[in-house]
Amino acid sequence: MFKRILVANRGEIAQRIIRSCTEMGIESVAVYSKADANESYLGLATESVCIGDAPAAESYLNAQRIIMVAQLKGCDAIHPGYGFLSENAAFARMCQDSGITFIGPSPEVIEKLGEKSAARDFMAAQGVPTVPGSDGIVTSVDEVLSIAEAIGYPILMKASAGGGGRGMRRADSPEDVTRLFPAAQAEAKACFGDDSMYVEKLVLNPKHVEVQVLADTQGNVVHLGERDCSVQRRNQKIMEESPCSRLSDELREKMGSIAVEAAKAVGYVNAGTVEFLLDQDNNFYFIEMNTRIQVEHPVTEMVYGVDLVHEQIRIAFGLPLRFGQQDLHMNGHAIECRITAEDPQNNFMPCPGTVNFVHFPAGCGTRVDSALYSGSTLTPYYDSMIAKIVVWAPTRLEAIRRMRRCLAETVIEGVKTNLDFNLFILFHGEYLTGNYDTGFIAKNDQEILGLAAQANKIKKESARS
Ligand code: ADP
Ligand code: ADP
Ligand code: MG
Repeated sequence: MFKRILVANRGEIAQRIIRSCTEMGIESVAVYSKADANESYLGLATESVCIGDAPAAESYLNAQRIIMVAQLKGCDAIHPGYGFLSENAAFARMCQDSGITFIGPSPEVIEKLGEKSAARDFMAAQGVPTVPGSDGIVTSVDEVLSIAEAIGYPILMKASAGGGGRGMRRADSPEDVTRLFPAAQAEAKACFGDDSMYVEKLVLNPKHVEVQVLADTQGNVVHLGERDCSVQRRNQKIMEESPCSRLSDELREKMGSIAVEAAKAVGYVNAGTVEFLLDQDNNFYFIEMNTRIQVEHPVTEMVYGVDLVHEQIRIAFGLPLRFGQQDLHMNGHAIECRITAEDPQNNFMPCPGTVNFVHFPAGCGTRVDSALYSGSTLTPYYDSMIAKIVVWAPTRLEAIRRMRRCLAETVIEGVKTNLDFNLFILFHGEYLTGNYDTGFIAKNDQEILGLAAQANKIKKESARS
């Protein structure tokens, strides 16, 4: 097995990877920016090394320096986590050239799937259902107009290099295209350094359902069911669950086997996620494949009893999968809430600051992935997600009740968070049915915000009396 793994990430996911290394008897090297020098999880690693200044470009995105540290510290592999360099084919190639194993798929596969428009065309050619849209990249308003004419409005103009819900604009009319295409293109350029755009028909009221796959170097590929990630704000996930209430065993098997075939066709190795949209008639369409561990992977771990990071490391070392599809069975229900240091009452503005006091929930079926501690300083340099609260229970309703209990137990003092916003999602009738779609938050946010605001008031009043 690997002797030493460098963890090229920060925060909760760095901590989560270090934990799996420790359990596997593998040494870990954490790298951190100057802004993260006081992070408590650094103490869990065998060693930690400062790699530069706070801005990600000078630390967590500094591929050369990270590889240099890996070499200096005798690491035989690098785990990239999510975000940062995780989907950077050039970085994976640099690792390879330096004789260090990149824990993820090959640079060629990352490249192929990272260009979302090309990935879509590839999957369509394999017979995987995709949303009607452009054949490759579009470069001008006129091109978009003629495609929209052919497939019909509404459409979505999407950044081919996109991620995290950015570089995407809906157009309901030719006027929208003319006005919004340049804006989307500019955002893509600013966020990803690449303004390649493509077009998809907008699927009305879809669920976002994604399938987790694991593929080893021997050609064995399995799926670990789905995650319903339809609680989204501006195309970004807030809350995820597994299984998805809408899938019958038959549909689960169908989507799972298509995801497995898609992974095989592209020569996929390691953990990956095939994302689909599921329409109101349960037709599903491929939208993209993420070539990394996903933020919401814990819900899959809870229902399958598999440590996905552990399996990623085994696969990267060249070991065959320890289980076949017939050995994998879903059990119970899991939900994850992404807790962010944001002010929901102020348009979800990030709220950096000092966290004076933290208390996380525990108890039956409860998991908290977080690097936060009492006294943590939240800097404005990185993602505002500060914790993932994950629950497991035998049934969906019990999991919801357990998550309500967990959120009510959580105390985060000093910065504003979305705790109450999450809590009131869990009381919303539409959420409770399980039949909500990606429009749920946009449709109900005022109502949920109203309840969350009242919750604050009630808490303040009871504290005063
Ligand atoms: P997931 O699909 O795992 O839920 P998200 O879309 O929420 O992933 O993104 C996970 C993290 O990766 C976030 O921190 C996000 O900002 C970052 N991210 C996603 N795609 C990209 C990208 N193309 N470039 C840079 N960062 C990205
Ligand atoms: P990213 O790379 O930012 O994760 P995705 O292509 O995965 O982008 O899309 C993110 C979200 O945007 C989806 O989960 C869905 O809510 C919405 N979306 C993307 N494509 C479509 C589409 N064709 N129709 C409707 N919604 C879409
Ligand atoms: Mg996506």
